[in-house]
Amino acid sequence: MHVRSAHRSLLVVGSVALDDIDGPFGLHRDLLGGSASFIARAAAYFTRNVAVVGVIGDDFPQRHVDEMVGLGVDVSGIGRTPGETFHWVGRYAPDLATRETLDTRLGVFAQFQPKLNDAHRDAQLVLLGNIDPALQLDVLRQVRAPSLVAADTMNLWIDIKRDELCRTLARVHTLMINDEEARQLAEEHNLRRAAAKILKMGPTSLIIKRGDAGALLFHGGGAFAAPAMPLAEVVDPTGAGDSFAGGLMGYLAYAGDLSPSTIRTAMIMGSVMGSFAVEKFSVDGLRGLTTAQIQQRFDDFAELAHFERVRL
Ligand code: AMP
Repeated sequence: MHVRSAHRSLLVVGSVALDDIDGPFGLHRDLLGGSASFIARAAAYFTRNVAVVGVIGDDFPQRHVDEMVGLGVDVSGIGRTPGETFHWVGRYAPDLATRETLDTRLGVFAQFQPKLNDAHRDAQLVLLGNIDPALQLDVLRQVRAPSLVAADTMNLWIDIKRDELCRTLARVHTLMINDEEARQLAEEHNLRRAAAKILKMGPTSLIIKRGDAGALLFHGGGAFAAPAMPLAEVVDPTGAGDSFAGGLMGYLAYAGDLSPSTIRTAMIMGSVMGSFAVEKFSVDGLRGLTTAQIQQRFDDFAELAHFERVRL
């Protein structure tokens, strides 16, 4: 794997946040969070061509921005404006499988208007984090001719902004959501039928993230399943889905094509980055990984999922 060769550009638009996370490992305050923080860090292992558009308040530690610059991420689209940074407070159940949002303080995010510069508008791959679908649409009106637009969303937007979300979905190639969101969006419990309904809303492919049950890809041609690695150490699932998305899109930028087999490999690369993310708090699991570690985890996935075809 030649990490960081010349390849397609990836534009990430999403939240940059400070999170308070409560759960079986105690309460941790002011952790670096936000969809764009996880996505950019996961993607930066595969390409030097990542740009982030987002907003931070005056309480946001500059060291987190500097860290992204050190990873080669273009942060010219991250604006610092007076006020509080977006703040999310969540609590995990003892089994870490479910979580509830205790508080969401929008802060400077309430006035966020994504403004893309010329280079951002030319991005070939666009990843829209789980922000207000009206803002996602605003970004899609500004980009020129991306070859792939992927988007995430969440239960909040399905609840309160379904119409805007449907307008965004009509312009998205790949939707990446979790199983609960897929069921809610499609109003259908069975995931295969939910996927068929969602694919009629606009996206040509749908990725359903299922936590420690792995991820499913649905498209016109069928389905593909990526397993989740059974890990001995799971501490904080926050950002797992975003790290998955970052690894997947970063790998697509690196690979430079969107063939079905590349997309399957990208699903596994997403699973690799998601698995690193949950082993530590905040973005710590994504810090300081070597190419050899990423390669080893990828090989572990290949081993985990490998089986021989037999003829009965
Ligand atoms: P994930 O665990 O992949 O779903 O992503 C969790 C991240 O999403 C956290 O770091 C939060 O800061 C961020 N987040 C939570 N709620 C929102 C929201 N309403 N808008 C944007 N980002 C959010």
